[in-house]
Amino acid sequence: MFRSVVVFFRSLFVLTLLSPAIPIFSQTPASSAPAPPALRVFDQTLIDTTIDPCENFYRFSCNNWFKRNPLPPDQIAYGRFTELYELNRLHLKEILEEAAGPSATRTPNEQKIGDEYASCMDTSAINKAGLAPLQPELDRIAAINSAADLPVVLGHLHLIGVDAFFNFSADQDYADANQVISFYNAGGLGLPERDYYTRTDAKSEEQRKQYVEHIRKMLMLAGEPEAQASKDAAAVMAIETRLARASLTVTEQRDPQNLNHPTDVVSFSKVLTHFSLPGYASALHAPETGKANDSEPKFFAEFNAIVADTPVDDIKVYLRWHLLHAYAGTSMSAPFDNENWNFYAHILNGAEKQEDRWKRCTSRVDREMGEALGQVYVAKYFPPAAKQQALDMTLAIEAAMARDIDSLDWMSPATKIQAKEKLHAVMNKVGYPDKWRDYSKLEIVRGDSLGNLQRSRVFSFNRRLAKIGKPVDKAEWHMSPPTVNAYYDPQQNNVNFPAGYFQPPFFSDKEDAAANFGDMGSTIGHELTHGFDDEGRQFDKDGNLKDWWTKEDEQKFQDRAQCMVKQYDAIEAVPGVHVNGKLTLGENIADLGGLWLAWLAWLDKAQAAHLDMTAKTDGYTPDQRFWIAYAQQWCTQTRPEQLRSQAEEDPHSPDEYRANSILQDLPEFAKSFSCKPAAKMVSDNPCRVW
Ligand SMILES: [Zn+2]
Repeated sequence: MFRSVVVFFRSLFVLTLLSPAIPIFSQTPASSAPAPPALRVFDQTLIDTTIDPCENFYRFSCNNWFKRNPLPPDQIAYGRFTELYELNRLHLKEILEEAAGPSATRTPNEQKIGDEYASCMDTSAINKAGLAPLQPELDRIAAINSAADLPVVLGHLHLIGVDAFFNFSADQDYADANQVISFYNAGGLGLPERDYYTRTDAKSEEQRKQYVEHIRKMLMLAGEPEAQASKDAAAVMAIETRLARASLTVTEQRDPQNLNHPTDVVSFSKVLTHFSLPGYASALHAPETGKANDSEPKFFAEFNAIVADTPVDDIKVYLRWHLLHAYAGTSMSAPFDNENWNFYAHILNGAEKQEDRWKRCTSRVDREMGEALGQVYVAKYFPPAAKQQALDMTLAIEAAMARDIDSLDWMSPATKIQAKEKLHAVMNKVGYPDKWRDYSKLEIVRGDSLGNLQRSRVFSFNRRLAKIGKPVDKAEWHMSPPTVNAYYDPQQNNVNFPAGYFQPPFFSDKEDAAANFGDMGSTIGHELTHGFDDEGRQFDKDGNLKDWWTKEDEQKFQDRAQCMVKQYDAIEAVPGVHVNGKLTLGENIADLGGLWLAWLAWLDKAQAAHLDMTAKTDGYTPDQRFWIAYAQQWCTQTRPEQLRSQAEEDPHSPDEYRANSILQDLPEFAKSFSCKPAAKMVSDNPCRVW
């Protein structure tokens, strides 16, 4: 269901996938509150000069921001990213409130986003409807008589966005990036990832108990008597534990070779001896022949066994639970919504308060109809000049990378030629799509919040399904234009920077190049470097999973990467839980490479402009401003629960280390602040990949 694109920030993307209802951000002042201070890319007032920059540069750069920004009760993490996200959400709210108003001149898209927002805000209608809108789906599950009925029902559940057992998607063939084929992927878990089911520490044991309790409560809310719900929750947990044990770990999933198992639909259907794949595919209108990928063969063997040996009543309750789980959130009545928040946001991630309704509804419309909302957004908030500046920066950093590849002392000329070919083939996508998504076939009915969500999921599923057998559309975006994030797509070899990101505190046309390159420049470099990290380097310039490295160069790359694995393995994120150096390797390589490229590009620009490198602005030289702007993008307060989840499952390192660990590897940074070799911010054994 989800493409394996590489995103810049964790929160928005990762947590949205966990559950549709998890609140991530908040803390926007009500309209009567004083306006927040203007966001700056380089902000002198955030620096705490009582802290030695050579001992803890992150604290030095951010300490006054921390003092000014206590963690709001409805947030699991709050950082500079959230500051912009919240500002953006206010802008989106204005757009949505206007679209929801009684205007007779609304465009078809404005009707859809406005009515969807109004439906989501209408809690009295949602509470009054209770479970009724889901009743047809519950009936469908109740009517299952034997495992033979499962394929058709499961096909329908996947169509409406229920992640039970596995998921089906239309994705690019690993071997041939020009083709979109059927993908069968592992899925079916209600906890964030498989290791939640297998870890043996006390905290994980406790979380599993709390999870079973959550399932039990959700089933009771749906009408089950208490004793039955207890038994059923245990049955769900047993099925999910089997699925989890047969699934790859998050670290294993990062290696595309582990996911590449080409087959065809007919052969794959023969593996599933107890599950009619043709029955499933025909319910979905998915291809019953043609190329396919069985992403995790071990998982599908276990799925087949579960279908064969699990009592049908247990399978039915498992489906019922996943149906409730998939819809619990803004589309369901308060008891379901609150229980869902309590487990996923409060228990797992430490949030103390549900975020305001309008924020959740705004984010929901952005998720469902991001390009309809985004079209209005960019017209108002993303001037053409901003797009040009963003593109110019991207080109400057690509030029820096070409020079950097030439200068590498460890890479052979043969691999260098391939690397530069790949670099020159990168497609730069900035701001918003050239061609907007057509939502005309999506029906949005005012007052039908759950129905709207269901129809929008079907719309989105069918849109993806229709790609099979058609040429790959590389112009398509996987993030909406207002998104404050960025991504690299290894199978398309393109970098994508949504319009929402090109604003303070990450970019401003009113600030100097040092600040903009240190901050936004390092992000552009980060995305570009993903094409050459431990995962991205396995894809060629056209996005095919195809080795283009000489054996010797590959070994040298691995040795360099191993330095970073060791560096991050040593970090204890919360007591007893270390950062996973292998899981975070790609992001760490991208952080280090990205900042280095931004530095090279900026130096080039500074020299061309004959910039006086000794002249101070706001008390700092240009090079110092570059490093401070870099570190200040990471000022973030994070709850310990969230820090723990992040260390366990997130490919991004915690923000503190995205600043400090990277800078410790760069002697150029130490030079700018005259740090002595023994200082904490100077590594004895600096890593460098790119
Ligand atoms: Zn990244």
